[in-house]
Amino acid sequence: MNKKARVLVTGGAGYIGSHTVKLLEESGFEVTVFDNLINGHREAVLNSKFVKGDILDIEILDRLFSEVQFDAVIHFAAFIEVAESVRHPLKFFKNNVSGTLNLLSQCLKHRVKRFVFSSTAAVYGVPESVPIVEEHTLCPINPYGKTKLTVERVLEDMSNTGEIFCIALRYFNAAGANPCGEIGESHNPETHLIPLILKTAKGERENIKIFGSDYPTPDGTCVRDYIHVDDLAKAHVLALDYLLDGGKSDVFNCGYGAGYSVKQVIEMAKRVTKRFIPVEISDRREGDPPVLIADNRKIRSVLNWQPEYNDLEYIIKTAWNWELNRKF
Ligand code: UDP
Repeated sequence: MNKKARVLVTGGAGYIGSHTVKLLEESGFEVTVFDNLINGHREAVLNSKFVKGDILDIEILDRLFSEVQFDAVIHFAAFIEVAESVRHPLKFFKNNVSGTLNLLSQCLKHRVKRFVFSSTAAVYGVPESVPIVEEHTLCPINPYGKTKLTVERVLEDMSNTGEIFCIALRYFNAAGANPCGEIGESHNPETHLIPLILKTAKGERENIKIFGSDYPTPDGTCVRDYIHVDDLAKAHVLALDYLLDGGKSDVFNCGYGAGYSVKQVIEMAKRVTKRFIPVEISDRREGDPPVLIADNRKIRSVLNWQPEYNDLEYIIKTAWNWELNRKF
């Protein structure tokens, strides 16, 4: 174990970032969070050192890397909203690609060789077969997925030269919240299924729209692999430990290997909240594959990742607890 290693976490004030930062602190790492707070929340950083800044700002990055000799970087900072990426591709490529190149330049300059990268199942596009293995064809169908794949390719080439050792984690659908009640999901605008269902249960929204009920799935609605955010956070800590122990560059899917349809998620939310949740069937959302389920055998065997919260009811309970008592 490499406790006390110094880790820079970009985007550590965001949803997955803040959960990972909490777990890193609990595991004994010395964490510095770097976030521009465009989408992140200062309150989500509970105990770590915090630096406000943007990955497009080379000078502030250079100062930060000069001040602290980091052992590793975990890089979450990115724009993530798919529909926005279709409308504003350049904005996404600038931030997600150019910003990451800035960060990598600083890693080279300051000899920081370990890098954990937030990637996404969106790199696969519409899957040809599920569960999806890491070797599946990479064919993203939106600019967001393309920015993530571009960075994966840069990291692969840099890994080949030995300049850097990198783990890319391809997330499926992160959901839920840490049971402490201090952090949780908070996007503006919110576009994700579970928080939108829960806002409807709370009465903040009129109804939840099901985007398409004529998909080739058992109940006609899309199927996704929802992974509790604390299990996802654990995957980052294991990836970091692996790299610090001399592990080589690799790519891993992060999901449970099981899927739930939109209708099943709504039914579970009704059970958990015991509230009335009005539903409206609406048109398909562009770019939604019918089924996305991870094959997670690789991360289980190589990183010894053992999920603890593979339970949709627990995921929705923790998300509901957050929604009722949110701090930001
Ligand atoms: N979805 C939906 N209504 C909504 C939001 C999402 O039916 O208001 C569906 C969406 O089409 C997808 C699933 O819920 O099949 C999960 O969507 P989300 O945006 O949460 O995550 P994604 O799978 O796009 O990463």
